[in-house]
Amino acid sequence: MRKLPKIELHCHLDGSVRPQTIIDIAKRENIEIPSYKESDIKELVMVKKDCTSLNEYLEKFDLPNKVMQSKESLKQIAFELLEDAQRENVKYIEVRFAPLLHTNKGLSVEEIIQSVIDGIKEAQNIYDIKGNVILSCLRTMSVEDGLKVVEAGKKFINKGVVAIDLAGCEEERFCNKFKPVIDKAREYGYNVTIHAGEAASGQNVIDAINLLGAKRIGHGVRIKDMKEAYDLVKSNKVYLEMCPTSNIQTKAIDDFNNYPLYDFYKDGIYVTLNTDNRTVSNIDLTNEIDLIFRKFNINKIEYKNIYLNTVEATFSDEETKNWLKSFI
Ligand SMILES: [Zn+2]
Repeated sequence: MRKLPKIELHCHLDGSVRPQTIIDIAKRENIEIPSYKESDIKELVMVKKDCTSLNEYLEKFDLPNKVMQSKESLKQIAFELLEDAQRENVKYIEVRFAPLLHTNKGLSVEEIIQSVIDGIKEAQNIYDIKGNVILSCLRTMSVEDGLKVVEAGKKFINKGVVAIDLAGCEEERFCNKFKPVIDKAREYGYNVTIHAGEAASGQNVIDAINLLGAKRIGHGVRIKDMKEAYDLVKSNKVYLEMCPTSNIQTKAIDDFNNYPLYDFYKDGIYVTLNTDNRTVSNIDLTNEIDLIFRKFNINKIEYKNIYLNTVEATFSDEETKNWLKSFI
C-alpha cells in the first residue's frame, strides 16, 4: 500500500504540522506553548476517540496556528508536508489553508501565500512530488474577509494557487452568504471546491454545486441520505474528496462499515481518497487506503480506476496530469 502511487486533493496545512515542528518553531520564535515535550504536543493536537463533533475536532487547530505566523515557519511546514507525503509515494498534493489565520504577527495575505508556495517549490526541487495550493475561506468569516483572500490570491492563480474553498464549521444553507466571494473567484479563474455535506445535510452540496459552481466537494458523505443531492453529484460528475477517518472522528459517519465510498464508486460517482488532516487525525494516506481497501475488498483494477479519476479531479495542468498517469 505504501508503494502505490498516490494523489491527495484534500489536506489542510494546519492540520498536518509535525508535532516536533510545533516545538522547534515555538522555541525559535519565542512562542509560548503548553509544553515542549513531543508526547504532550501530540496529545494536544491529535483528536481523541471520544470526539463528538466537527466543532470539537476544529479546536485542535488552535495550537498549530500559533506557530504559523512567520514566513519561515509557513515555508518549513509546507515543505515538511510534501516531504512526508512523498515518503508514502504521493506524487501530487493540493495543500489547503486559510491565509487569514496567519496574519496575527503582521504578515500580509500575499506574503502568507508566497511562503507556502515557496515551501512547496523547495520540496518539488528535491523530491519526486508536485503540489499546488487551495485557498480556504472560513465560513465563520465575513464576506469582506473572503473577498480579501480572493483578491490577494489572484496574482498566484496557476502560479502555485489553483482553487478557492470554503471550510470550517458547517451550518445549514451557508452557501448563499458566500456567493459574492465565490462568484468573484470564478471570474478571476480560480477552480472551486467547497466543504459540504459533512456536518450538515446534502442540501449544502446542492447549493455548493448550483449556487457556487463547485466542481469538487469536500466530504459530501451526507448525500447518501438525500437522493436529490446524490443525483446531482452523479449527473454533474462532481468529484468527492472523501476523508474516512476524519469523517468517523467528527461523527459525519457513525461506523467504517457504513462508509459510503465503495457504494458511491460502484454506482458511478467519482470518489477520491484523502487524509483531511494528517496530524489532527493521526493518519497518512496509506493508512486511509489500507483501511478502506481491506474493509470493502477493493482490488488493484479498482484502485487504478480511482487513481485515474483522481488525476482528472486534480486542478493541475495537462502536463502534470499526463505525468501522473505515467505512474499507474
Ligand atoms: Zn477539510
